[in-house]
Formats: sequence, structure tokens, C-alpha cells
Amino acid sequence: MNFITIDKKDWAPGVDQSRKTYRVYGPVEDKNGCQIKPLAPDMQPKMDAPVTVMSAKSVLFPQTEKILTATLDESKEDHHVMKPVETDDMPRVVLGIRPYDAKAVHLVKLNFDNPDYKDPYWCAAYDATTFVGLGVTRPGPCDFSTAVGSGPFSEEGLDVLMADMDDKYLAKILTEKGEKWAAACGFATAADPKESQVLFDVLKKEAEKQIQADVNTDKLAQKTILDLYDAPFWDEVAFSCINCGTCTYVCPTCWCFDIQDETRHNTAVRFRNWDTCMSSLFTHHASGHNPRGTKVQRVRQRFMHKLKYFLDKYDQGIMCVGCGRCVASCPVNIDIREVCNRMNDYETTK
Ligand code: SF4
Ligand code: SF4
Repeated sequence: MNFITIDKKDWAPGVDQSRKTYRVYGPVEDKNGCQIKPLAPDMQPKMDAPVTVMSAKSVLFPQTEKILTATLDESKEDHHVMKPVETDDMPRVVLGIRPYDAKAVHLVKLNFDNPDYKDPYWCAAYDATTFVGLGVTRPGPCDFSTAVGSGPFSEEGLDVLMADMDDKYLAKILTEKGEKWAAACGFATAADPKESQVLFDVLKKEAEKQIQADVNTDKLAQKTILDLYDAPFWDEVAFSCINCGTCTYVCPTCWCFDIQDETRHNTAVRFRNWDTCMSSLFTHHASGHNPRGTKVQRVRQRFMHKLKYFLDKYDQGIMCVGCGRCVASCPVNIDIREVCNRMNDYETTK
């Protein structure tokens, strides 16, 4: 494990140098708050940004993505034959990603890249991407990452983890991708590994101490799906929900999408767009039947998927990294921390 130090005066020139090799993404501030976006050549990432409104998931899984195209020109031999679109697989780097958002990539990977199915678009984007995280020294009030197997200095899913040391960054290189990124930036000042690890451990401990996360998941695996499904609290949980879908769009681990075909002149295009289990149209069948036609069914689905189905299927914890975005963004204050505890504590009387 290598540690390097990066003097802050060398940071911007290094980022600029890396643009020859990478498309650079990072936090930027606009009228909608802080977002992770591709940086224009004259832009630097806002490394001291608060938690971004949306996570970095769109770097690998865009909100709208063109996946197939066909010509409708019948004079062409291949008319109406759907073909993959050309993808831009230029190496990209995400700077300043929060450690729990990188862990979320690892959870999403279980869905898009597994022995049964490999999503070619997501996998190509994943292979092309390097994640350079920045440890969170001042976790926000909704952060409960430590309670769900992540944390402000979690390394899972990251290629580099950096710590802000005032006039410099201390960076822990975690993977070969991380080494290549540091070399492309010209960052090569080695730091003492033992001393650096001690510093990381101190910062981690201090940051974790600030998270007051009273969220328990320890008994979820022992519950049966049917007991939780039939639990009496779902009406109450769902009562105020307006099915706006915000919680799923801001979530770094939500991956649902819909496919849409559009034609324009002689070209047909197939897109995939983010969708949400909170929308009644998401499960509306062509026959008119809707297996999740009521609000309570949709709200239950969201929590059961994150906190029970995913846990049972993959045995890798729950499908939540505790970023708190859904808690902060829900217009009616539905709080996954409370729902998780209700599910965890639920004892059937049957
Ligand atoms: S953000 Fe809140 S109101 Fe909107 S769908 Fe999610 S739980 Fe319901
Ligand atoms: S469910 Fe909520 S707290 Fe958990 S990862 Fe998604 S947005 Fe973050």
C-alpha cells in the first residue's frame, strides 16, 4: 500500500496534467447545489463541497443513455436492425467522491456485473473509471454510514483515498488504477506508510465519533420475507408518501431503469432512463394489470428491496450505504433509519 503527499499548490496543475489521459469529474456548485459533473477544461473540482445532492452513480449509469440504434431507411440492407451505439470509453476519473458513494458502486456492481448477467454499458463505464475519494471529516446530520458497513473513511470501491491535511492531501493508493491516476497527475512524493496509516486511523476515528447513527440491521437476516411483508406498519410508513421518487433518484444504490424507443426521421433510438419503483407506471403491465398499484405496495417494495431482498440475495449487507440523501430530500420526512429499525425490531405475534 503506497502513500503519497500532494501539496495543495500542486493539485490544480496535476489535475490539469491528467486531462490528457482522463475525462475529469468532480463536485461543482451550481444553482441546484453541489453535483458531481464532468469538469470543463477551465474548471477544478470543489474538494471542500458538502455532500452532493445527487451521488456519482450517473458517471456509470447516466440518467438517460442511448443504447441501441437502427436505420428505418428501407433502401438500406440493415434497416430496422438494432445495433449498439458507439460508446465513449475514454478513461475517466471521479475526484472527491465520498467514500460511501464508492461503496455504493460496489453494491450496484452486484446487479450489473455478475456471473448471470453483465450489463455491457455499465461494465465498460466501470472499467474506464477511477475513483479518487476524499475522507469525510465533518459528516452531516443525516449520515449514518457507519451503521451500515461503510463510513467516512471507508476504502471499499475506491482506487485512492485522500485525507485533507490543510496545506496538502495525504493519499493512500489502493489499486493499480489509482497508481496510474497518480502517475498521470505527476503526484509522486512518497509518504511514510506507517506514519500515514496512523494519521488516517486518527482522522477516521474522529470522523466516525461524530456520527450518531442509531440504526440497527443485525436481526434483518433472521426475519422471513413474508413476516416483514405482512407487518402491520406499512400503512403508517406509507401514509404521507407522495410517490415523488426523489428518494430513489438521489440514492447511489438505486438502479431501476425503463427502456424507451423513439424515432426521428429515418432513425430509431433505444434509450434507457432511470425509473423508480415509487411510480405506479413502473410496474404497469400492457394488459392494464398493476401488481404494485397502490402506494403502500410501492413504499413497501422500496424498503423491502433495500433492507431485505438484497440482503438475502447477495449476503453483502443491506442495499444502503447510509449517505442520508433520501432522508434529507424526502418532502414528507420519511426516514429510512426509522423504517430500518422498525423492520429490524419487528416480532410477529403469529
Ligand atoms: S421522497 Fe419521500 S415522498 Fe417522495 S417517494 Fe420517496 S418516500 Fe415518498
Ligand atoms: S437508501 Fe437513502 S441513505 Fe441509503 S444509500 Fe440510498 S439515499 Fe443513501
